[in-house]
Amino acid sequence: MPEEMSPEEMEQKKEMVISMCICPSCPSWVECGEKGGYCFPTIGKSDCINEESGCICGGCPVTEEMGLTNVYYCTRGSEKEQLGK
Ligand code: SF4
Ligand code: SF4
Repeated sequence: MPEEMSPEEMEQKKEMVISMCICPSCPSWVECGEKGGYCFPTIGKSDCINEESGCICGGCPVTEEMGLTNVYYCTRGSEKEQLGK
């Protein structure tokens, strides 16, 4: 993701990621009013998902769209965080 993205562009991208996110269909999903999108840098870890019972991020369109390389963003942090950036 380019560093020069404006706050407005980041917000737009975030909403796009949330709209495409398939986390609510995941076996690890816990319903607590969150909207998913944990892979996104300004979202990151979930406040209610603590147990890793399978991750379906590999089948999510966002993984291909953004070239994501990790899994379990809800428990391990955003792609950026997991890459140590
Ligand atoms: S990659 Fe995972 S966390 Fe990111 S939007 Fe898709 S399902 Fe949600
Ligand atoms: S990040 Fe992965 S493990 Fe967590 S809820 Fe989304 S699909 Fe499931």
